[in-house]
Amino acid sequence: MYLCETHLHTSEGSACASMSGAQQAESYKAAGYDAIFVTDHFFNGNTAVTEFDGWQDRVEKYCRGYENARAVGERIGLKVFFGLEYSYRGADLLVYGIDKEWLKSHDEIMSLSCEQFCGLVRAEGGYLVQAHPFRQASYLREIRLLINYADAVEVYNGGNRRQEYNDRAMWYAQQFGMPITAGGDNHHSSDVKSGVMSEYPINTPQDYIELVRNGSPKLITPPLHAG
Ligand SMILES: [Zn+2]
Ligand SMILES: [Zn+2]
Repeated sequence: MYLCETHLHTSEGSACASMSGAQQAESYKAAGYDAIFVTDHFFNGNTAVTEFDGWQDRVEKYCRGYENARAVGERIGLKVFFGLEYSYRGADLLVYGIDKEWLKSHDEIMSLSCEQFCGLVRAEGGYLVQAHPFRQASYLREIRLLINYADAVEVYNGGNRRQEYNDRAMWYAQQFGMPITAGGDNHHSSDVKSGVMSEYPINTPQDYIELVRNGSPKLITPPLHAG
């Protein structure tokens, strides 16, 4: 089986992460993974990119964690793919199927509503997964279900502190017939690693999108670190 992490942060891109892109690549390779997606918090989330000179520079800095992970991945034999985690008033959407050049060519993104952003991503071949939809935490004011924006639901999130949050996400996906996936939401060396397992390797972001869209990827679901 081939293991692929779908939700991971780097200290270059995310203010809350302590693992650099290079360290993440090494750590996942050591854990037997074949591929990872780097999904740093976007500019409407807990971004580490606070100083920049215009949109192009902002995007360059945003992509640093991904690029550092990718450089190490090429050396050690780990595929590293681009993704991002877009935030909308406490709800989070993992975005796949876009890249740095796409971001650079869309300098209007931060002025778009969530609805407009999701429409643009989908129109250009991207895919949206709502991350940990039922997480409850002090920094979240409410549970916000983006039923009309998300293509799929993260029914296991390694950063959730209670199993119920994942159980409820599974219930939600089943109720609405939405495709499911899993992610580690890995920020630190001690965080759980998750993602999907497949019989065939995921060689492109599109392979991952197809795996989720076609239903039932095998999910990697280690025990949560209870809080
Ligand atoms: Zn974070
Ligand atoms: Zn995350």
